[in-house]
Amino acid sequence: MKNLKLFLGSKVSFGTLLLALTVLLHTGCTTDIVPATGERRFLGYTWQEEAAIGKQSHKEILALFGLYRDPELERYVTEVGNRVLATSHLRRAGTAEQVRNTPVTFTILDSPIINAMALPGGYIYVTRGMLAYLNDEDQLAVVLAHEIGHVAARHAARQAWQQQIGQGLLLGGALLGQGILGLPAGDLMNLGGMAAELLFLRYSRDDELEADQLSVDYSSRAGYDPREAVGFFQTLNRIQEKEGQAMPNFLSTHPNPGDRIQRIRDLTAQLPLQTPAPTAVSRYLNAIDGLVLGEDPRQGFVEGNVFYHPALRFRFPVPSGFKLANQPAQVVMIDNQKRAFLGFAGADEKSLEAAAAKFLRQPGLRVLERGPMRSNQLPAYAVVADGQMNNGQVVRVMAYFIDYRGSIYHFVGYTSPQAFGIFRGAFLQTMQGFGEIQDPRILNREPVRLALETAPRRATFDSLIPKNLPAPFRPAEVAILNQVDLRGIIEPGRKLKIPVARGKQ
Ligand SMILES: [Zn+2]
Repeated sequence: MKNLKLFLGSKVSFGTLLLALTVLLHTGCTTDIVPATGERRFLGYTWQEEAAIGKQSHKEILALFGLYRDPELERYVTEVGNRVLATSHLRRAGTAEQVRNTPVTFTILDSPIINAMALPGGYIYVTRGMLAYLNDEDQLAVVLAHEIGHVAARHAARQAWQQQIGQGLLLGGALLGQGILGLPAGDLMNLGGMAAELLFLRYSRDDELEADQLSVDYSSRAGYDPREAVGFFQTLNRIQEKEGQAMPNFLSTHPNPGDRIQRIRDLTAQLPLQTPAPTAVSRYLNAIDGLVLGEDPRQGFVEGNVFYHPALRFRFPVPSGFKLANQPAQVVMIDNQKRAFLGFAGADEKSLEAAAAKFLRQPGLRVLERGPMRSNQLPAYAVVADGQMNNGQVVRVMAYFIDYRGSIYHFVGYTSPQAFGIFRGAFLQTMQGFGEIQDPRILNREPVRLALETAPRRATFDSLIPKNLPAPFRPAEVAILNQVDLRGIIEPGRKLKIPVARGKQ
């Protein structure tokens, strides 16, 4: 969870997501010009509709992933993005005026996953996880150009048209993400990934090939060397070999990095060789100096079966046998056999009574128990009720509201009426275990950050990195982060990306 202001201000509303997809499903197929090729293609929606869907979905994306706040880095990524954008089909003379006039934004998402994505209509995203693994400005330019390519070739609109023919798939997926009792139902652990997949759609191999072609075209016209991307794809290969399924987002939505290395080599074979300016390397590394690496503990973390949120100063126990997903707007816990769900979020209401009353106003709710409670001396209010899911299934719900430091928080636990007896104790233990964090070691925990260190001599990489790396980083991962081999020779003066546990200077 991010800080309270953010998640109160931008609650995830799956209604909006559904609306966007409904627009997409109800539009008949249309043919329209694709800026990237100038040809007419069958598309799911018009350019105006694409821009509208992008604008609407941008808020969802920020609520799901969170914005990485670093104005200097944002400016830098936008500058590189704009340089590539200027050479792209979205800004060329022959392109329709409405396309050329569509603003394109570049956003850094506060997520450790390695990903870059685009929404239709000109919203380009790169995660801080991706930025950490890139090594120079050329690589960043190619990644952004690839996403601009998806927008210019209108791949989202084409997928929408194709998936309409492939019937109902999108709608089924969207329904899974629909809200129930203020918290989402369905496969909650994958919610972020699922919403992202729905919004970004999964592109075909042909679309990915086209986006790679366009990225070579745009980035080389902008003066970058697309061959540099090979080093990044090799890095992805190494992460894939090491982590396997640990990066489902990127690997499921992008082709095998090995294939892309060959493709980039083929596509760039005819390009004149460029000597990359050394300033472009240091400019990139300087821009990401101090970047947060991995999970940010200030936004919440689990340790010893307790969830801690240092920024908001609260903690609660995680029921044993439950998996936890910490999303920007909520914390989601689900039991391993997916029989019970427990969600936690901030409420907009100013008092326990108001929050409980809002909950009780929901249609179809049959209240079984209600009344004031206490959680570690904090005033609380509990409700047990039966409710009906959108699919008709009856669930027994325990809702629990807590007044803490001037804000109202709420838990919602639910399971089938038959299984409620099994989970009631676990729900209550978590809800009543909510309390203040007092341990200064937890309150003051800082994220691991990337620091630049200059190699003082010619030596192997492993001999140059600190012996005491902050957990969970190990030398092998730091080598991948730097796009070098662990035993590779480093020349003096080279800047190395080192994970450090101290705060940002
Ligand atoms: Zn792509």
